[in-house]
Amino acid sequence: MTMPFDLSESHDAFHEECGVFGIFGHVDAAAHVALGLHALQHRGQEAAGIVSFDGEQFHAHRALGLVGDNFNSAEIIKSLRGDFAVGHNRYATTGDTLLRNVQPLYGDFSFGGLAVAHNGNLTNAMTLRKQLIDIGCLFQSTSDTEVIIHLIALSKQSSVEDRLYDALSRIEGAYSLVVMSNHMMIGVRDPLGVRPLVMGKLGDAMILCSETCALDIVGAEYVRDIEPGEVVIITPQGIRSLHPFPKQPKRFCIFEYVYFSRPDSISEGLNVYETRQRIGAYLAREAPVDADVVVPVPDSGIPGALGYAKESRIPFELGIIRNHYVGRTFIEPSDHVRHLGVKLKHNGNRAILEGKRVVLVDDSIVRGTTSKKIVAMVREAGATEVHMRIASPPTTHSCFYGVDTPTRDQLLAAKYNVLQMAELIGVDSLAFISLSNMYRAVAGIGRDPHSPHYCDACF
Ligand code: SF4
Repeated sequence: MTMPFDLSESHDAFHEECGVFGIFGHVDAAAHVALGLHALQHRGQEAAGIVSFDGEQFHAHRALGLVGDNFNSAEIIKSLRGDFAVGHNRYATTGDTLLRNVQPLYGDFSFGGLAVAHNGNLTNAMTLRKQLIDIGCLFQSTSDTEVIIHLIALSKQSSVEDRLYDALSRIEGAYSLVVMSNHMMIGVRDPLGVRPLVMGKLGDAMILCSETCALDIVGAEYVRDIEPGEVVIITPQGIRSLHPFPKQPKRFCIFEYVYFSRPDSISEGLNVYETRQRIGAYLAREAPVDADVVVPVPDSGIPGALGYAKESRIPFELGIIRNHYVGRTFIEPSDHVRHLGVKLKHNGNRAILEGKRVVLVDDSIVRGTTSKKIVAMVREAGATEVHMRIASPPTTHSCFYGVDTPTRDQLLAAKYNVLQMAELIGVDSLAFISLSNMYRAVAGIGRDPHSPHYCDACF
């Protein structure tokens, strides 16, 4: 069977959303934010920024590139004076990768300055932006987060909190926000709770951040997840929790467990690594195969493969070795080098693969371009059979909530059935975990089609 299939693309993954980290009441606020952002680097690598407040003035540093490359000097950290600071790692989901789009975005209002760090995407941002431009608002960036800044500026309410509620009541979509004024830090999770946001404590200082791995790096204690629709206001007088929005059913992004979150994070009460192992175990029960070794596609396939191996009692082996020192800039300059992308990152481990029937486990298939190259590599290294097992259901739709996904026509599972996909990727067999078993592995119960516990719209 011959099918048209573009194998030239290297953009073959769901890309992470952004990471946010704010700390309130610590003498070394900016340094802690830089560390927190470093732990959240997997959520966005395009740019990073920190805004601090020293009791009189706000200070900001924003740059394109990685946290470690931009917040590595004592001078920069010292220039971000103050006890409050908020930071952001950006993956460019909307808006170009331009310095003016790098968050936290900052605005000077009648009540003082306000810095906003936003993880998520607004589904009505374009409509609101147009309405705001029509009434004379001047936008500095192409980021939809700036819509929130303008809505706060236009609100007729007097307090920061009331202006924020006013603004948020007009926006739709996914947002976990950390907002910092000259006297408070505010954390907000959208009513559906699509993106994560957790609270931590370091001595007397309070932290709001995207994942618990960022609390670990600064030695902070995990307090709790911010609830969907909750607004948490942190001031020197204490913490207030409010639920100003109409209650809606929760829709936490199930892809956080599949791929986005770091495995050592605890998300909505579940350790991500253990959850991925459970998905692998359910996958082994649902799609068993006679084989000699279980091999993960590193790194994201590792926990699922471990779960598959334990359940199937087939030995787990690192049959593909990942080179951790491949920089993005090295991959990107020319078509020729880009074509080598997969080989630069991964190599088949011949000693493990030669003469073996291999179960290859990955977290997901998006376009399928990387999978095809990896399978060819495993065969070149001597595997006699390759059976691919995927620790998520077929990805048939782009993300509705703004995660950077290929358009539907580029998603392999949107165009082909499993048998056709197996042929295109070049495997002896291919199977995905079912949606209901993924729910069992994550939540301990099957999926209720009338009221699913999670957002699973891309499956
Ligand atoms: S559509 Fe998929 S990636 Fe997007 S929020 Fe829902 S589960 Fe997550």
